[in-house]
Amino acid sequence: MTDVKKSVRLPQTPFGMKARLAETEPQTLQWWQKNAVYQKLQDKNAGNQPFILHDGPPYANGHLHMGHALNKILKDIFLKYKAMQGFKTPLTPGWDCHGLPIEWKVEEEYKKKGQDKEAVDAASFRKACRDFADKWVGVQSSEFQRLGVFADWQQPYLTMTPANEALITEKLFQFLMNGDLYKSVKPVYWSVVEQTALAEAEVEYKDKQSPSIHVAFKITHSPKPSLVGAEALIWTTTPWTLPANRAIAYHPEVDYVLVEGSVNGCGRKLVIAEALTGQVEKVLGYDLAVVERFSGADLKDTLAQHPWHATGYDFSVPLLPGEHVTTDQGTGLVHTAPGHGVEDFLLGKQFDLEVAQPVGDDGVYYDHVPMWAGQHVYKVNEAIIQALDQVGALVARADITHSYPHSWRSKAPLIYRTTPQWFISMEVNNLREKALTAIEGVTWIPSQGRNRIEAMISGRPDWCVSRQRLWGIPIPLFVHKQSQEILKDAELNQRIVAKIAAEGTDFWFDSNAVRALLAPTYQLDDYIKIDDILDVWFESGCSYQFIQKNPDVSLPVDLYLEGSDQHRGWFQSSLLVGLATDGKAPFKSVLTHGFIVDEHGYKLSKSKGNAVNLADVVQKDGVDIIRLWVAGSDYQNDMRLGQQVIKIQQENYRKIRNVLRFMLGNMPAERVEVAYADLPVLEKYALAHLHAVLTACEKHLEKVNIHGIYRELFQFCVDLSSFYFDIRKDALYCEGDQSAPYRGCVGVLAQTFQAVCQWLAPILSFTAEEAWQIYKPGESIFLQDLTKPVDDWQNESLLNKMTVLRGIRDQVNWALEQARAEKKIRSSLEAEISVFVPESLDRLSRQEILETFTPDEWCDFFIVSGVTFVDEKPTGSVQQDGQEIAVRVDQHAGEKCQRCWKYGTGYKEVGPENVPVCQRCYDVLVH
Ligand SMILES: [Zn+2]
Repeated sequence: MTDVKKSVRLPQTPFGMKARLAETEPQTLQWWQKNAVYQKLQDKNAGNQPFILHDGPPYANGHLHMGHALNKILKDIFLKYKAMQGFKTPLTPGWDCHGLPIEWKVEEEYKKKGQDKEAVDAASFRKACRDFADKWVGVQSSEFQRLGVFADWQQPYLTMTPANEALITEKLFQFLMNGDLYKSVKPVYWSVVEQTALAEAEVEYKDKQSPSIHVAFKITHSPKPSLVGAEALIWTTTPWTLPANRAIAYHPEVDYVLVEGSVNGCGRKLVIAEALTGQVEKVLGYDLAVVERFSGADLKDTLAQHPWHATGYDFSVPLLPGEHVTTDQGTGLVHTAPGHGVEDFLLGKQFDLEVAQPVGDDGVYYDHVPMWAGQHVYKVNEAIIQALDQVGALVARADITHSYPHSWRSKAPLIYRTTPQWFISMEVNNLREKALTAIEGVTWIPSQGRNRIEAMISGRPDWCVSRQRLWGIPIPLFVHKQSQEILKDAELNQRIVAKIAAEGTDFWFDSNAVRALLAPTYQLDDYIKIDDILDVWFESGCSYQFIQKNPDVSLPVDLYLEGSDQHRGWFQSSLLVGLATDGKAPFKSVLTHGFIVDEHGYKLSKSKGNAVNLADVVQKDGVDIIRLWVAGSDYQNDMRLGQQVIKIQQENYRKIRNVLRFMLGNMPAERVEVAYADLPVLEKYALAHLHAVLTACEKHLEKVNIHGIYRELFQFCVDLSSFYFDIRKDALYCEGDQSAPYRGCVGVLAQTFQAVCQWLAPILSFTAEEAWQIYKPGESIFLQDLTKPVDDWQNESLLNKMTVLRGIRDQVNWALEQARAEKKIRSSLEAEISVFVPESLDRLSRQEILETFTPDEWCDFFIVSGVTFVDEKPTGSVQQDGQEIAVRVDQHAGEKCQRCWKYGTGYKEVGPENVPVCQRCYDVLVH
């Protein structure tokens, strides 16, 4: 008995059933580093065609979160596939190091130490910011590496190194010399919290509740005498801008009416657009009688007075024609504050109005502002409404919730403020037009990306590139004090760039150093030195330039791959810099992914507590679980993540791991080669199936459909264990070394293992390497060539035929299940079955079906001990609803082989204990 049992070939492998990823992954990581696998991979593909993905720089100010992991893992999966296909794929990781969030953190640190930021000199403050960024670059780098991401981690690009600061400055000078860069006073989005201008890309719209008020301006003069003494009615949701009111706009082609309404016995004559009469009545709560109807053009040369004309606002408020006026909402008369709105500003410019600018950087009214000096715009609305009410100018008030611009970093509501800023023109050199043309030549994946960026470029204003802060690259320009001319001197530009390349940009904040730089050609005293710094989006927009020193890189690079919010950010700034300074888009294709949401589809937020912490999952479950989730999600949409999703991935991981384990455990140490022609049908089918899977995977890879590859591989693994492995367990455990099914099967296992393990490697990098090192110790799996489908394996007709056969097998399994439930049999090997198959099934004749296998193979196929095919439904057979196949299950009348548990007759007894075994087992034991 003991001998018989021992002779069964049970699987053996050090590849554990339990993954223990959190323990094994750091070891694998060390092994990759020690063996310089990333470098070897680059060397291996040295002479081959490069495929360049340019890494978008994350911001260096904290630990990585799931969003970072998703982005970098997607890039890593894709590049690993490309590399294993033979492309040269160097990846230079990058970091965004300048900007406000770091300034804030550093200011906080000063505050904690009881220091005042104002008391610290620029150089020390900037050094503190640089140290802060440096620290987080280090932390994030090791966190990315822990995710198994292959890149040149020793030589990343940083936006704050002198060499890159010089490149960025050079680009800015190109804009200057081309005439794209100009200085202007313009309304820009202003954050009173951050105390700086913000670019379009830094603005996000969120709902905000605001007061909605209707305000009457008394008309003091008009060519139409009937209007004098009446009131022009305006509507606004920003009462705090009323101190800056300098005009009221009307549309010259819209019809207006003079209406009379009575409230509390007090009559009121108002001018509004005719089309809005009904809406205004609703707001006011009383009926309006039309006194007179006239065209907007009749309002020409009409003057009103400011509601607070008696308390410091003693100027006329002209009514002016404006094409921007609509009758969609409001009153058809538009409150105009040239300092606080783009259209207001333009109208003011056209009619030479004063650009009143009553609000300081911090959102507080200047000292010279009557009534409101020293008050903050966030807190003044109620007082303003009261002051309007006191002078009888408030006609109605309500509250509305509307979409309002906020800073995407501080989340504070923004205001429009008019300040001197530096702009890149979208028109002077046709940058907008060039960008729109270039967009057509880029491949956008998914294709909606193209529409998004096209709409954004079409509608965007000139690019405001200046910021009034310290931690960034200075805009190193001079404006002549008398002439206000910008100093444009190519030779000086070169000197500035060279100095930055040698020592960075700190010197700009030291007047003596700048004076020395100008001398002897220019005198600093004749010039205003610009103290603004550059928009960080300009910096990252130049980043493609940082990797050009790599000889494999040429413009445009193959791929940019980031979250879909970068249409307004990095993709756009890179496109504009590329077109204006290098004459082309820096990328051939742009791939975007969606964002992570929770299991119910809601946005992740700290306050909701629905965010999954990256470090927790890495430590508890392992990186491969995250990588499997990334690959398993359809990245073109929002991706769901939560504890349930992780559980599902763990379950899927376990299934895949068991398949690898089964193959590793059953492959003999010596490789077995069998000519394709000599393989049993089942093995030919297994290879045909593998061929189909690999072909599909290659197609998915071409379309950058990682999700498709995952699905293909996962389903294949599930199928292998429930079909092919299940059938072949008998051959693997019990057949002799020389038997055809055994030799065929272990040959197929090797082919399948190599293919599956290699195709899994970019996704489950740690697990695939662990398995590969057991199969072929020494060389990393990433140095293998990705398995291609072998032409010989292709067998369309066998695949079709097997689909029919597997349909029969499903019916047999169903019948066996019934028999087991009725306690007729315990295991399927106890059964002997009669199967009725109709004359033809799915265009296969019964004859064609039957001749697929030998009787023994049929037993293996169904995992039973006897199979008879019959041409009539046997009595006592069972049949599933709607199925043509009928099966009768009987308990086998013979003996049980004590080695393979198959039933039969004529068994021989072996061993000291004289146990019965079947002929096959007898032969194995005796030989
Ligand atoms: Zn046996």
